[in-house]
Amino acid sequence: MALKALDIYKLLPKKNCKECGDPTCLTFAMKLAGGKADIDLCPYLDDQAKNILGATTRPPIRLVKIGVGERSFSVGEEFVLYRHEKTFYHPPGILFKVLDNQSPEEIVAITKRVKTESFVRVGSNLQFNGIAVENASGSSETFAKAVELIENVADLPLVLISLEVSSLSAALIHCGTYRPLIHAATLANYKEMCSLAKQHGCPLVVKATGLVLLEDLIKKCSAEGIQDLVIDPSPSSLNDFLISSTAIRQLAISRSAPDLGYPVFINTSGNALEDAMIALSIVKYASVIVTSPLSPGSAKAALTLRQNIYTDPQKPIQMNPGLYRVGNPDKNSPVLMTVNFSLTFFTLQGYLESSRIPCYMLIVDTEGLSVLTAVAAGKLSEILVRDSLKKFGVGEEVAHHLLIIPGYASPLSGRIEEATGWKVLVGPRDAAEIGDFLHEEWKKYAPKE
Ligand code: SF4
Repeated sequence: MALKALDIYKLLPKKNCKECGDPTCLTFAMKLAGGKADIDLCPYLDDQAKNILGATTRPPIRLVKIGVGERSFSVGEEFVLYRHEKTFYHPPGILFKVLDNQSPEEIVAITKRVKTESFVRVGSNLQFNGIAVENASGSSETFAKAVELIENVADLPLVLISLEVSSLSAALIHCGTYRPLIHAATLANYKEMCSLAKQHGCPLVVKATGLVLLEDLIKKCSAEGIQDLVIDPSPSSLNDFLISSTAIRQLAISRSAPDLGYPVFINTSGNALEDAMIALSIVKYASVIVTSPLSPGSAKAALTLRQNIYTDPQKPIQMNPGLYRVGNPDKNSPVLMTVNFSLTFFTLQGYLESSRIPCYMLIVDTEGLSVLTAVAAGKLSEILVRDSLKKFGVGEEVAHHLLIIPGYASPLSGRIEEATGWKVLVGPRDAAEIGDFLHEEWKKYAPKE
C-alpha cells in the first residue's frame, strides 16, 4: 500500500541538507509520495527505512534507458493499468530488426531508413527508435562486423540479440559504451550475461516462458547486481502475449509481485500477423518492440497508434489560438474559423493544403475541445469568435467580411453574424469535404479581383 507524504516524512533523517536536490525533507517526502523521486537520492537513510520506503515509493515499473544521446529512449515508470486512469508516460521503443548475415547494403539501407525517416502528425515528429541486430550467422565475427557497420552509419539505440556470450562480447567492443539492450539472459547463461551487462553498464533482457520462471530469473539477475532489466515473456502467439503482458502489468502495478516491475520486450518479426501483434503490443504494455522493417503503410499505422495511446487523455493537445496562413493567401482569400483542438487543426490544414486554395485559418481558443464538444459545452460562442477576429487582426488581412465556420458550429451562424457583422458561410461537417466546398461554394461568394 502506498504511504502518505507525512508517513514518509517520519522515516526521513530530517537534516534538511538539500543533498537530495529538494530544499527540505518534507518536499522530498511529498515527491516520494507521488512516485516522483528515488529514495537513493537521500544518502542518510538507514537500511530499515530504505526497505520500507523502497517497497512503497519506487515506481512499480522501473525506468530503463536504452541508448545514449539524442535518439536514446527510456521505457517503464508506468503507474496505471488503464490509460484513462491517469496516462501512460513512456511510449514503447520500436526497433527494426536486421540479421547479421544480411548483405552490408541491406543493413545500411535499413539503418539509414530508421535514422532519417520521420512522419509529422498532429505537430509531432514520429520516428522509429533504433535497430535490433540478430546474430543469425552464429559467428561472433560476423555479428561484430554488422554492429560496427550500423554504428558507422548512425548513432541509434541498439538491441543485440544473441544467446552466445562470445558474440555479444565481440559486438560490445563496438557499441558497449552506448547502452545497447542485451538480449537475452536465460536460465542457462544468466551469470555470464549479467557479468557482460555489468562490465559495459548495459540494460539486459531476461527471457523465460511463464511468470514463475521469469520471476525466478529476475531475482537471480538482481542478485548478480543488475537493476536495469527488461522482461521477454517469449510468447508463442498473440493470445499468449496478451495474457502474459497483462498479468505482468497487473502484478507489477498492484505490487503483488514487485519482482516483475520491469518493462516488457516483444519481438514481432517473422509473425504471420505482425501488424496485429505490433498493435496489440503497443496497446497492451510492451515497452521495447522489435519488428521487421515495416512497409510504409504498416510503419505509419504503428507510429500513429503509439502516438494516440501515449497522449495524455486528460489534456487535449492544443494549438495556440491565432491566424494561420495556408499557402500565400492575399486580401481576397477565404478565412476559415475553427477550434484549437490540434487534431482538428492538423486535419483541416492537411485538406486545405490539398485544395491548393491559399487561405487563412482563424484558430479560436476552446481549451483544446473539438468543434462539437466546444459548441455543446458553450466554449465556442459568438463572443469568442468576435474577440478572436479583433485580437488577431483578421479585418486588416482581408478586404472582405466573409467567415467560413465548421458545419458542426452551424447553430451559432446567426449569432456570429450579429456579433461580428461578418457574413457567415457554413462549411462542411467533414473536413475531407472542405476542398470541394472551397472550389464550389466559396467561389460563389469570393470577392472578384
Ligand atoms: Fe532530507 Fe535526506 Fe534530502 Fe537531506 S538528503 S534534505 S536528509 S531527504
